[in-house]
Amino acid sequence: MGKKTIDQVDVSGKTVLMRVDFNVPLDGTRVTDDRRIRMALPSIESVLSRNGRLILMSHLGRPKPGQDNSRFSLRPVAERLGELVDADVLFVEDIVGHEARERAAALQPGQILLLENLRFHEGEKANSPEFSQALASLGDIYCNDAFGTCHNMDASMVGVPMAMGDRPKVAGFLVQKEIRFLSDVLSSPERPFVAILGGAKVSDKINVIRNLLKRCDRVLIGGAMAYTFSLARGGQTGKSLVEPDKTDLARELMEEGGTKLVLPADTHCGDDFRPDCSKLVVPAGEIPDDYEGLDIGPATAALYSDIIEEAKTVVWNGPMGVFEMPPFDEGTRAVAQAIADSSATSIIGGGDSAAAIQKLGFADQVTHVSTGGGASLAMLEGRTFASVEALDEA
Ligand code: AMP
Repeated sequence: MGKKTIDQVDVSGKTVLMRVDFNVPLDGTRVTDDRRIRMALPSIESVLSRNGRLILMSHLGRPKPGQDNSRFSLRPVAERLGELVDADVLFVEDIVGHEARERAAALQPGQILLLENLRFHEGEKANSPEFSQALASLGDIYCNDAFGTCHNMDASMVGVPMAMGDRPKVAGFLVQKEIRFLSDVLSSPERPFVAILGGAKVSDKINVIRNLLKRCDRVLIGGAMAYTFSLARGGQTGKSLVEPDKTDLARELMEEGGTKLVLPADTHCGDDFRPDCSKLVVPAGEIPDDYEGLDIGPATAALYSDIIEEAKTVVWNGPMGVFEMPPFDEGTRAVAQAIADSSATSIIGGGDSAAAIQKLGFADQVTHVSTGGGASLAMLEGRTFASVEALDEA
């Protein structure tokens, strides 16, 4: 990408205001999964090791105005971060108030100050100019390392870099890596370029399918969304999850895609949404009335694996079936295995496909697993982000 990164600015003796994604699960008082904190460490350490001061800001969950939001406090995150870095981690509750300004001014090189959950202030979601200005006044350099929120227009993502004026605004290593894969690889892929799209609904992925049909050589469809395509072709879908009001759209996508759009040849169905239901494999579009499609069938898994084997670039978003409920994880597993076995550049979109590839144990055999669900979907739709555009060019 053409954006300046944190290692390209002199941070010595300066205060870096870094937006990170510390939106981690908590059990009330403790962080139960610290992956997002650990992922931010390279950018954090890059500043500390070069004698910079660091102010970190993040959101956590969805606090509601006028309610007890104490369970969304970032205080437990400050504690966990303190265990992961060799530096003092200070915490301040009032975000942009008097105390925050004093603590920021007193910060020493090599120290970290974490601000309380930005969403405790209504200016964050509203992208308020006053709130942005107040945050921007705390730092000499702005750094965005919060890929998971890059598609949002929040103050800390968009308003703050704009309010920095001439002061440097750079990308952290995490954002740099995500953009390199999701944007740069997608715009000039090695071919054949194959996309595999699954998940529950066509309506969630229309723009992704449209954008990828323009860029890819093949778009393979799985998951429950395949049944809406099947319905559009006059197939029998039984009790499957379908969107009958989206069949016109499915027809349009099939026309646009022609032979590029590949639909399942067979379906693994069950007579109930339970692992011990009675099971059946049928040709696509021939699901009996009292059955529902829960996975792609073995012929589709084999066909998709063959197509993936030939690919030089692969993008995957969305499971092929109800992967949380064996044996209906078999289709998703076959696709994950084919991607892991291939030598293609492989990019796994965030959310459920990232969870599936971790669960199946193939995460270290692919090129890139995106950390952002909504953000990676937005990138696959071909959208550009105001939060990234606001950063300095390299
Ligand atoms: P999405 O969030 O759109 O990527 O959808 C992921 C969800 O779709 C997962 O929880 C899957 O269990 C679900 N899913 C995939 N295939 C099916 C199917 N055939 N029937 C019902 N749910 C499905």
